[in-house]
Amino acid sequence: MARYRESVCRLCRREEMKLFLKGERCFKDGCSFERRGYAPGQHGRDRRAKVQGYGMQLREKQKVKRLYGVLEKQFRNYFGKAERQKGITGENLLIFLERRLDNVVYRLGFSTSRSQARQLVRHGHIRVNGRKINIPSYLISAGDQVSLKDKSKKNPLIQYALQSVTGRGTLPAWLSLDAANAAGTIVSMPTREDIQSPIEEQLIVELYSK
Ligand code: SF4
Repeated sequence: MARYRESVCRLCRREEMKLFLKGERCFKDGCSFERRGYAPGQHGRDRRAKVQGYGMQLREKQKVKRLYGVLEKQFRNYFGKAERQKGITGENLLIFLERRLDNVVYRLGFSTSRSQARQLVRHGHIRVNGRKINIPSYLISAGDQVSLKDKSKKNPLIQYALQSVTGRGTLPAWLSLDAANAAGTIVSMPTREDIQSPIEEQLIVELYSK
């Protein structure tokens, strides 16, 4: 599978917002975006001022793809599904992304970033309703239980993530967490209001509707 191998901090600078791609390190000193909050490259400082129309739509799509760590083809597939579903296409798209197992693992605080969550899923640390699922794009449903493999509960990286995230109190309302047993429940399906990231999904709909 294709992977992005450059510095992920460049992606934040390119999208001119913190995408929190490095987990806990993003909350500490030394965040590249905080030091240089403009696009990388020779003309980075004045790039955003010139972006309009198609450029804005493209940037919004790239931002969301990067935030959730999804590649173009898969992102396009989510859009197709979102379009075919009842409701508002942009909101449906974000809800599909939010329902990905790697995102749920991250939201529950089993990891400090979505890329770490993807690794936990791929390496077989995650159980959904007691069954091993190693597909990061697996879509969870209301009532599902997402937990860690017994052996993985003592993993220091996971323990650290659980402590740091529960400490920050970022658990969304559609999830509940039993931190002592490292198990989470999908209380309800996420809604647009649950997604706090500054996303203008309508721009993505306009881009793909051309
Ligand atoms: Fe983005 Fe800052 Fe985290 Fe780097 S350290 S990934 S620039 S938020």
